[in-house]
Amino acid sequence: MRLRNITGSREVISSSPYVIKEEMQRECAGRWKEIFGNEAPVRIEAGMGKGRFIYTMARLHPDINYVGIEKYSSVLLRAVRRMEREELSNLKFLRMDAEDIGSVFGQGEADRIYLNFSDPWPKDRHAKRRLPSREFLARFARILKPGGRLEFKTDNRPLFDFALEELNASPEWELEVCTYDLHSDEGLMQGNIMTEYEEKFSSMGNPICKYIIVRKQEKL
Ligand code: SAM
Repeated sequence: MRLRNITGSREVISSSPYVIKEEMQRECAGRWKEIFGNEAPVRIEAGMGKGRFIYTMARLHPDINYVGIEKYSSVLLRAVRRMEREELSNLKFLRMDAEDIGSVFGQGEADRIYLNFSDPWPKDRHAKRRLPSREFLARFARILKPGGRLEFKTDNRPLFDFALEELNASPEWELEVCTYDLHSDEGLMQGNIMTEYEEKFSSMGNPICKYIIVRKQEKL
């Protein structure tokens, strides 16, 4: 994502009631039910961008808790502004690198993880930064309950092919669904919420790839 630094965004983010304070993040692990004040499942979007997807999901499913993770204040700001206009009690934000997700969520604490149009990091030496890499899949597997799902969408075919290869090297996961043209699949499109990037790239005619993978039940 091309980044424009927005003056004052850091200050807004660090004082927003919708964003978990940086110094409190590590205290969240194992306490998400307490933070939301209920027993509902917790679903995470890593790399949420401006937050249209996670905000819409939270509004449509008030019986589920959502946590959006975004690295940059300037981007997260848009989601915070949306919450200021219409607050949702089942949505929280974390401004952090998803690399540290294991210190903010306890083992098996999440019910589902979404990766939408993750940055491709095209250079080989940056492969470990790609969110569907084996390194990230191992982090996600730890915080996801057995039987929990990870859903990944992208229009970037090389990134999707990479993600499938990485899956083969990741024993914690099982492939449940895979399509190279999501928008032509009536069944999978039911309940599909378009992200900002999905709308942009599908309107340019790019097919959208999606997989759903499941965290295996057995202890690894
Ligand atoms: N998910 C949104 C969508 O589909 O419209 C945004 C996609 S944008 C290409 C990727 C976003 O992920 C950017 O906002 C970027 O800052 C964020 N991101 C990339 N790597 C990240 C990481 N390691 N931790 C947190 N956010 C990350």
